[in-house]
Amino acid sequence: MKKKIFKYYLILTMVVLIVSVVFTSEIAQKYYKYEVENKLKSIAFSIEYYLLKSDTKINYDDIAKDYASMNNQINNYPEDKLRITFIDFSGHVLGDSEANYQEMENHLSRKEVQEALKGSTGSDIRHSKTINLDMLYVAIPLKQKQNVIVRVSVPLTQLKKIGEMIWFYAILVILFGLLLTIIVSLRITTSIIRPLKEMIFASQEISNGNYTERISLKSTDELGQLAMNFNEMASKLDETILDLNNKKIEVESIVNSITSGIVAVDNTNKIILLNPAAFNIFKLDSRHSIAGDKLAEHIRNNHLNHLLQETITRNKPLEGEVTLDEKILRINTSPIRPTNSELNNSGGILFIQDITKIRKLEQLRTEFVSNVTHELKTPLTSIRGFIETLKNGAINNEKVANRFLDIIDIEAERLYALINDILQLSEIETKLKETDLVSLSLKSLIDAVFEVLQTIANEKNISLHNQVSEEVILKANKNRMKQLILNLVDNGIKYNTQNGSVTVDAYREQGKVIISVKDTGIGIPSEHISRVFERFYRVDKGRSRNLGGTGLGLSIVKHIVNLYNGDIKVNSEVGKGTEFTIQIPY
Ligand code: ADP
Repeated sequence: MKKKIFKYYLILTMVVLIVSVVFTSEIAQKYYKYEVENKLKSIAFSIEYYLLKSDTKINYDDIAKDYASMNNQINNYPEDKLRITFIDFSGHVLGDSEANYQEMENHLSRKEVQEALKGSTGSDIRHSKTINLDMLYVAIPLKQKQNVIVRVSVPLTQLKKIGEMIWFYAILVILFGLLLTIIVSLRITTSIIRPLKEMIFASQEISNGNYTERISLKSTDELGQLAMNFNEMASKLDETILDLNNKKIEVESIVNSITSGIVAVDNTNKIILLNPAAFNIFKLDSRHSIAGDKLAEHIRNNHLNHLLQETITRNKPLEGEVTLDEKILRINTSPIRPTNSELNNSGGILFIQDITKIRKLEQLRTEFVSNVTHELKTPLTSIRGFIETLKNGAINNEKVANRFLDIIDIEAERLYALINDILQLSEIETKLKETDLVSLSLKSLIDAVFEVLQTIANEKNISLHNQVSEEVILKANKNRMKQLILNLVDNGIKYNTQNGSVTVDAYREQGKVIISVKDTGIGIPSEHISRVFERFYRVDKGRSRNLGGTGLGLSIVKHIVNLYNGDIKVNSEVGKGTEFTIQIPY
């Protein structure tokens, strides 16, 4: 760029200089010729005037020689030797100041002579081989000396000199011009190139991602305007990129925080995006990026891949359910539509929800409903059966009737207990956080429970022991805690043997309250221990029912413990007894 500007500027200056030198030289030479011609004319006229005065017989040769020598003496330039020639109208030379006129050839053909013959002043410039100079000839016809022409000539010695002088100065001017050109073009190129270089640097910085780079040029010319526009453009780019980055971060954090799996693929099924939830669901190693890999290489499930492929080709959202590694996944696919609707789909998105838990809950609920129905049906069928028998005549037998009514009463009691337990369970289940928390003295709470259960315990001669000291305080909902202890002590009595005992203890340990309910009862066989907290699970169905059990007591206990973020453990030995240990953080 710098070289180009310099080259063109130099060529332009040189052309201008050479043209002006040639032009000046031409004008100077023309002017010189014009001056010399005028001078020769005046000499010729002065000769005419001289001859006009003389009466004697004219010796043209002498006059030519005298006049020429006289003029040459007073001439400033001795090398400009004046030559005077007299020629008659037939071209014969009558006299000449330089040569022997008798030996001179006829001059009729000379241009200046021809013009003089016509009556006007003739002139011509011809090159003289003898002196190797251009000669200027001026000829005029002498009016009173009919048929005689006087021709005055002089070598144009100054013409060559003028030319040389002009070229000498021209070379000086050209050299000066050259120097000036170098200086000026250097200044111009630096004033253009410097900002351009700055712009190139700034644009390179921007293309490398440094969007804060600006051009410092402050001039008001076109380059300044360009720099200003460039800076504005860079600012807008900076803002847009920042905006896009923020949006990208926002979208990324949204996608990453979504608990459902999200996978995006392009139309060749290559992975564009896969959020952490998807990594978890498909058990992929999140330390390695799998962007750009084919989805089928990492998720080997034909149904899922087919669903996504269908969505991309048919440009239609689809849904389905797939089972993968014992997980039940609900799949929703949707095409990624390009901004230009005429283009093909640019890919597809996969939304994955792990519905294994939901399905299990649904299954539990169904089981629960069928269990509840079954549990409700048994006492109801029994009640209806006895009522029918009574109606059919048994009512008349007082003894039988009273027995039947007692059974109906027991079954109604069981129904009531069952409905009560179901309601309690559903209330605890729907609760996310415990309410009505108060500081409870566990000792008094256990005493109150023992009071309720004392009669049943006495029936089997079972002793109840409260070993809890006064200081053990727990912040909890009173009714809920009472229910928990009641269910455990009730079981301790129910599944105990004659003359057995139930002991409750509680103490604080490492930020927890530990409650232990221990009995000397029949114990739970080890294979049943893990299941006793399930709804309606009973080790011995008949025994439990006879004892008025609903199969929900431990389930309620477990849910209450969960509500307090606690933990429950069972330690049991068949024939020796069972101990339930609860830990509740306080
Ligand atoms: P139920 O109303 O049948 O007592 P629970 O949920 O309270 O229902 O208990 C579930 C089952 O666990 C009982 O049927 C019983 O077989 C067993 N079980 C509970 N507590 C004890 C215990 N202290 N000793 C022996 N077995 C127990």
